[in-house]
Amino acid sequence: MHRRSFIVALAGPLALSVFPRRSSASQTPAPLPPVSFSCPMHAEVVEDKAGKCPICGMTLAPVRLALVWSCTLHPDVTRQQPGVCPRCGRDLLRVTKALTFTCPVHRKIDVLDPGRCPICKRTLIARYTIRPHGDHNPRHGGSFFMVSNNWHLEVTHPAASVFRLYVYDQYSKPFSPPGLTARVTETADPSGKRAEISIPFARTSRGYYEARVPNAATPATIAAKVRFEPADKEYRFDFIFPDYSKEPSVRKSR
Ligand SMILES: [Zn+2]
Ligand SMILES: [Zn+2]
Ligand SMILES: [Zn+2]
Ligand SMILES: [Zn+2]
Repeated sequence: MHRRSFIVALAGPLALSVFPRRSSASQTPAPLPPVSFSCPMHAEVVEDKAGKCPICGMTLAPVRLALVWSCTLHPDVTRQQPGVCPRCGRDLLRVTKALTFTCPVHRKIDVLDPGRCPICKRTLIARYTIRPHGDHNPRHGGSFFMVSNNWHLEVTHPAASVFRLYVYDQYSKPFSPPGLTARVTETADPSGKRAEISIPFARTSRGYYEARVPNAATPATIAAKVRFEPADKEYRFDFIFPDYSKEPSVRKSR
């Protein structure tokens, strides 16, 4: 259900209409995404009509979901085109943000439609706000999963025998849940022959968990089981790594 809803969230903003062009605007006009309806408690619920949240029954709130380009380290950066982050040089990635309009002077103005400030009559400007589940890009070149408790999981295979597991919150900020345990439970060799193992992911001081699986090289197929909290059950995740995971490149062009 979570996954299906997210696909709706991605598809929505692709239906484009065009912003009214302002004579003062120096940048190209951005497309104005349609109004969708989302649950204040369940951002992954996005519908194209008003109604109630299928999970909690709350009335869905209107929102414009904009597919824009942003930096994983600097989520306040918003661009309409691909490029590099002006602050760190990383390639910008596609994310979903909520688009509202605010007055350059009266920042408390926050409305869905472009227009003029009701107080000073200045032309409103676009404001982009990060959303839970707005960013599902892997941070370290690995496989990124959404987990049922709203966390996100990434597993990478940066070098022979090495697998790393990263956990992120619903805003895709990294964190280390204290009760998390995880292990690699299965590997398969290139011919597809599977072997059951149990190799734990050990917590490291660098914010990720690491498992060493002897003789694992690309193409690598593994299954991992993750227990997010001590009283929770183990969830299984399957990963295929055709190549080693590469950290995103950083272009320092200054
Ligand atoms: Zn809800
Ligand atoms: Zn950046
Ligand atoms: Zn104003
Ligand atoms: Zn998510």
